[in-house]
Amino acid sequence: MTTCAIIVSAGRGHRFGAGLPKQYRMLAGAPVARHTLMVFADHPAIDHIFAVIHPDDAGLFAEAAKGIDGVIVTHGGKERQDSVRNGLARARDIAPGKVLIHDAARPFISAAMIDAVLTALEDAPGALPALPVTDTLKRGADGRIQETVDRSGLYRVQTPQGFRFAEILAAHEAAAGRALTDDAAVAEAAGMRVVMVPGDENNFKITTQEDLMRAESMMTGRAGGDIRTGMGFDVHRFEPGNGVILCGVRIPFDRRLAGHSDADVALHAITDAVLGAVGAGDIGLHFPPSDPQWRGAASAIFLEKAVEFVIGKGGELVNIDLTVICEAPKVGPHRDAMTAKVAAITGLAADRINIKATTTEQLGFTGRGEGIAAQSVATVRI
Ligand code: MG
Repeated sequence: MTTCAIIVSAGRGHRFGAGLPKQYRMLAGAPVARHTLMVFADHPAIDHIFAVIHPDDAGLFAEAAKGIDGVIVTHGGKERQDSVRNGLARARDIAPGKVLIHDAARPFISAAMIDAVLTALEDAPGALPALPVTDTLKRGADGRIQETVDRSGLYRVQTPQGFRFAEILAAHEAAAGRALTDDAAVAEAAGMRVVMVPGDENNFKITTQEDLMRAESMMTGRAGGDIRTGMGFDVHRFEPGNGVILCGVRIPFDRRLAGHSDADVALHAITDAVLGAVGAGDIGLHFPPSDPQWRGAASAIFLEKAVEFVIGKGGELVNIDLTVICEAPKVGPHRDAMTAKVAAITGLAADRINIKATTTEQLGFTGRGEGIAAQSVATVRI
């Protein structure tokens, strides 16, 4: 059975003043309507999306829907009810079985809510999310309370409101010219049975500037919550030579590190930490030692590639911590140059990069001066 969504985006949002309609205001770097459209576009049960817009907002909507495939745009009418009727009429050609009607200005609609409404439609011709009224209700006039209203059995309703398509289309056509406040009211007027599924406090409609600020902090707070950490560890042995390379900085020494690339044990550990943070495997997976193109390569390219993985995941590096473990050479005098090099490679500010060194008290292979070990932790925010 085909299911379509009608995203009502025709409001002019006068409550926001003379500025942009609320569904086109920027929220966490994208228009409000874009966040809403993405949820429906990504939902496997939604086959077609119809957007109902104000004719003056064609450019704004095109920007909001950029890159989202298959959104069919139609123009709204004078009132919301007229707009929905236009959207339903536009969808009639594909004869969907079910339709979800949703406000573009409710960007926190979840896939689970869409599922809940669609599931309820299996047993009823109409379904909507609703929340019980918990505040005490009063009736008043002229600044004075007249009575307390019994709130039992009262609900606040949200969208998406879902319906069997043919029935709601007929109901809307029959209700043309009557002022009804939502699609469920249109359905009720036609005698359709409409059932409730649990609503979600986060699925609020952005109506005021305060709503937009709340939405911004919710959305950016959510982004800030996806923090990931990765760790990396590497060892290279010494061989005859005249210097080692740590974090891309050449340090004079009476030996060098053996390895296929430039053997920069410090950058290898950092690279593995960054790859680990975004679940992208390890350095050997992307740069196999068996591949001759990495012979003698400057290890900066490995870390650059790891940072590309982070960006590709929509993330950003937060910080890098590195410990170099050896008895010699001394790392301290080169710490600032190494930090600057890692900053240049990753784009991180220097104060988000920490480089330290330790010995193992002459114990183990590093203590015997057989090589250098390095370990690193990297944090990524997606
Ligand atoms: Mg290595």
